[in-house]
Amino acid sequence: MAEKDDWLKAGKIAGEVLNYAKSIAKPGLKLIDIAKKVDAKIYELGAKPAFPVNLSLNSVAAHYTPNVNDEKVFNDGDMLKIDVGVQVNGAIGDTALTVGGDEELVKASREALNAAIKEAYAGNEVRMVGKVIQETISSFGFAPVKNLSGHGLSEYVIHSGKTIPNYDNGDQTLLQEGDTIAIEPFATDGDGLVIEGALSNIYRLDNVKPVRDMKARKIVKFVEENYKTLPFARRWLEEKFGNVSFALMLLVREGVLHSYPQLKERSNGMVAQSEHSLYIGDKSVVTTKI
Ligand code: MN
Ligand code: MN
Repeated sequence: MAEKDDWLKAGKIAGEVLNYAKSIAKPGLKLIDIAKKVDAKIYELGAKPAFPVNLSLNSVAAHYTPNVNDEKVFNDGDMLKIDVGVQVNGAIGDTALTVGGDEELVKASREALNAAIKEAYAGNEVRMVGKVIQETISSFGFAPVKNLSGHGLSEYVIHSGKTIPNYDNGDQTLLQEGDTIAIEPFATDGDGLVIEGALSNIYRLDNVKPVRDMKARKIVKFVEENYKTLPFARRWLEEKFGNVSFALMLLVREGVLHSYPQLKERSNGMVAQSEHSLYIGDKSVVTTKI
């Protein structure tokens, strides 16, 4: 079982990896080259990915990771969200920032996160966290993305337990000592709602059951052993098994794997994201702050 130290360690490494990702993410680079370096850095620091680094451009708010032969480039003027997940014995650090694009929009999400962290203590209602996020982002003249939210973190599970809203949704659930959560304000110059779009290249094991196809069976075994219930990237399978298109299609159709869709702002607004993970107490610890 993961101890508090594991949560602190996963957070610290996630923070270091995000900092590294920011330092290398320069316009002109292919997303795949950024992703490979981020993957390598996580292992170099003695941890494993909790999910594939999300590299989402412009109006895509979240859930994009490149494939092996992906041609997508982070171009000058693009707004790039970098969202890093790290795990140590199942304990998770989940942290994100935004580079490029409109600096005010980026600042709105970052300041909303800072304000939210001040409200994240044992005994406070989750809606109060959402309230300051909404107020902060609105003060910049932008909108929070209402149908994306922060979340509880538990061992080997990225989204579990409490929902940490990005607006005052009236939820009076109390934060409690020992809760592990992520807070992630998304700010947009659009409507403030995301819809599901194209494939993200991110998958998760949903329901293990017998499959006849040999390659699909090998993939399921590999995923169970290496990623358990955590999301994984198509590229990680491509690196090991070559072409996995047919097997993935089969496994998604059979309900063995869940395929995450990209989440795109409905009105094509630009989206900025900032995220930290916290260990809640009277005085909470921001585990991903370095
Ligand atoms: Mn995240
Ligand atoms: Mn998160």
